[in-house]
Amino acid sequence: MTDLHRLSIREMTEGLKTAQFSSRELTQHYLDRIAKIDDRVQSYVTVTAEQALAQADAADHLLKSGTAGILTGVPIAHKDIFCTQGIRTSAGSKMLDNFISPYDATVVAKTKAAGLVTLGKVNMDEFAMGSTSESSFYGATKNPWNLEHVPGGSSGGSSAVVAADLAPIATGTDTGGSIRQPASFCGLTGLKPTYGRVSRFGMIAFASSLDQGGPMARSAEDCAYLMNTIAGHDAKDSTSVEKEVDDYVANLNATSVKGLRIGIPKQYFNVQGLDADVKARVEESLKKLEDMGAALVEVDLNMTEAYVPTYYLIAPAEASSNLSRYDGVRYGYRCENPTDILDLYKRSRSEGFGAEVQRRILIGTYALSAGYYDAYYVKAQKVRRLIQQDFLKAFENVDVIAAPSAPTTAYKIGANLSPTEMYLGDIYTLAVNLAGLPAINAPVGFDANQLPVGLQLIGNYWSESQLLSIVHQYQQNTDWHTKRAAIAEENI
Ligand code: GLN
Repeated sequence: MTDLHRLSIREMTEGLKTAQFSSRELTQHYLDRIAKIDDRVQSYVTVTAEQALAQADAADHLLKSGTAGILTGVPIAHKDIFCTQGIRTSAGSKMLDNFISPYDATVVAKTKAAGLVTLGKVNMDEFAMGSTSESSFYGATKNPWNLEHVPGGSSGGSSAVVAADLAPIATGTDTGGSIRQPASFCGLTGLKPTYGRVSRFGMIAFASSLDQGGPMARSAEDCAYLMNTIAGHDAKDSTSVEKEVDDYVANLNATSVKGLRIGIPKQYFNVQGLDADVKARVEESLKKLEDMGAALVEVDLNMTEAYVPTYYLIAPAEASSNLSRYDGVRYGYRCENPTDILDLYKRSRSEGFGAEVQRRILIGTYALSAGYYDAYYVKAQKVRRLIQQDFLKAFENVDVIAAPSAPTTAYKIGANLSPTEMYLGDIYTLAVNLAGLPAINAPVGFDANQLPVGLQLIGNYWSESQLLSIVHQYQQNTDWHTKRAAIAEENI
């Protein structure tokens, strides 16, 4: 079979269970595609072919003996921020170019236990700081829809692998939009769960009060399968929440779009820099949901202007603390011939971290320093609470809130946005992390240059089932999620 990569996750599981193809065949098919296509997309940092085939054989054994789980034998790619035992975990940084984790992240352990086959580790912005994946030590990943454009970031390798059919599903992480924005730029579905739903254990920390892992795939249905595997409490992550996990697949039709109240924040659609095509496609998708029976209700989110400054204070502050562990002593990059311990710290960190990471460490350290702490960090935390309250108030009147995922479609590679220009591109995604809410991106069409546009739906706490269900029903009535980039159409 030459077109195994066109199957949905459900179709893949059915094909495996009924022995239409084996996991080895499926895995080899993806490995062949990676070998043929990925030199153009550059999504993988590490391909684990040998281990993948061994996992596939083990999966085939379980499938034959009738003891397989639902996803046994299905391939997956992991963002290179999730620790993988025995396989390099770089976080896109020179600092961790030589880092081989002695343990698996909980998310990775769960996918392994479920019988998923790890194809490899995919590219990302260095330490997940960025919106283009260009800050990676390994160079820029290309957008499969147009190789001159970025796939988004920071989970740009994850969006590119799925959009180019170099993996059927991928994990991503979202601290300020890094699942939703790359999903939007590559025409995919991506879910950022409620803070605490997916374990952060073994996920290299950027900003711990904002970081959350989640699924990236073509459809809500595919995302639901992966969520069933990775969600849940983990004693190894003190911020993971002890709350029963929904069956996201079983709930795909549980929420009725008929009668659903969708909040439209008045502040969001007048944002300076909102691209006209993005606005038009998002409005068309909302019209479609209205035709399906939803009611569009205007809501007020008065704190919109505070999102970017608040996030870009809190995230760097937490990053500066988290990244202090990379000191050249215990693991990671170490400079050559240090003269003393200070020289070791200084040069290991100056040589090991890229420009954007250094900028964030400087901003964060400044914001946390004695004398400025109250004026900046404490104040930002207070504003953060107001942003959360803004949402909770809106949710008194609506079920979900709609927004674009990003004000534009994918940037050109090398566009060289200034830091502030780049930060402003995160306007629609940051508040969700500051408030700890779940949100999903769904593809809703293309701009004039054939680059994908995404709709974001933001839900109240623990509403992942509802978000997946709404997008699933939208996808039953539209076909944007089935569109493939030319490079994904290439057979090998
Ligand atoms: N673009 C945002 C930043 O650079 C978000 C990144 C993320 O979610 N990891 O911080």
